[in-house]
Amino acid sequence: MQNSLLSSYQLEIEEVLDDLRAYWLARSISRYNVSAFSKVTNKGENIMFLCPFHDDGNNPACGVETEYPYRYNCFGCGAHGSLASLVAHAVGLPNELLGMQFIMKNYLVVSSNERNPIDMESILNGGNKKDRMRSLPEEEVLRYTKKRHSYIYGRGFSEHTISKYEVGYDEVTQAITFPVRTSKGLIRFIKKRFVSRKGFLNEKGIEKKDIVYGLYYILQAPKPINELYLNESETDTMSCYEGRLPAGAILGRILFVEQVRELMRAGIKTVNLFFDNDEAGVACTLRAYELISKHSAIRVNVVLYPNRQYGITDIEEQKYKDSNDLLRNNKLGSIKTIPYLEYESMVRDAGYLDIEEIKNPTKN
Ligand SMILES: [Zn+2]
Repeated sequence: MQNSLLSSYQLEIEEVLDDLRAYWLARSISRYNVSAFSKVTNKGENIMFLCPFHDDGNNPACGVETEYPYRYNCFGCGAHGSLASLVAHAVGLPNELLGMQFIMKNYLVVSSNERNPIDMESILNGGNKKDRMRSLPEEEVLRYTKKRHSYIYGRGFSEHTISKYEVGYDEVTQAITFPVRTSKGLIRFIKKRFVSRKGFLNEKGIEKKDIVYGLYYILQAPKPINELYLNESETDTMSCYEGRLPAGAILGRILFVEQVRELMRAGIKTVNLFFDNDEAGVACTLRAYELISKHSAIRVNVVLYPNRQYGITDIEEQKYKDSNDLLRNNKLGSIKTIPYLEYESMVRDAGYLDIEEIKNPTKN
């Protein structure tokens, strides 16, 4: 049935298992086996892992086929079925069909020896996924990091932070360069911000919704970090780092489910939403909460800016627009975090933003 849809694709089973493990842990299901989906080992035809249906101790007894039809089978307890049903079991979806939808949404990669001709264009929403997801060689970063431009010091960053985030300067385009790495460290693209005028070099056509900027550096910390400030831009994230707050940026004003998955995989348990201090930032906060709470068990707090928060109360004193503004005014230490629901009721009480409309925009 629907499972045959998978015949045209090559699934990265290890990646799927990584995610299932994150979901399993996030849902704290310890009834059978807390370690389920770990100890992943590739045995050629099967990928073995600890079973989510029985306690197989330290010896992975459950396996999924690495090729279509991707069935799973546990040699310990005999549980078996389709990958979609395994996904549904791990993620907590009521049925196999929803498990299948989960797979289609998250993992479909074109197989090199495609069996059925399919309209990839429409599936991938235009463009060639391989190109949009390509990574650049390390030399691309090194080319720029030897140079510095005073602009970046004017932003309040120390040399330590600048080198941590591998910021450089491109003389040709006269732009500050920020390498954007995936959580595994691959360089997806180099963001370039013009020095003499507002704006960025065009990044059109580059896939970035699966990247939380800065997460790669967080994962390199000597001690695991499980609480993260989430903001909009790379300079916001660097500002937080400068102020000793571990942070990541969504590189825009829309949080994507792929980014939520990245946070889960990185072991983040608490996210402090720290978007810009304006009305769009409030909308971004409300929507981000909806998405995070729907797809993960990550706890969500919201950062309150010192003085007044636009969107909640009027500004009577100086308004700080983002993390970098706070850093430059030496105010990063004055932020407060409150639980999301408390924040939402503040927004509700303020009364002039339509919360329901922001959460579920009516399509015009
Ligand atoms: Zn089993």
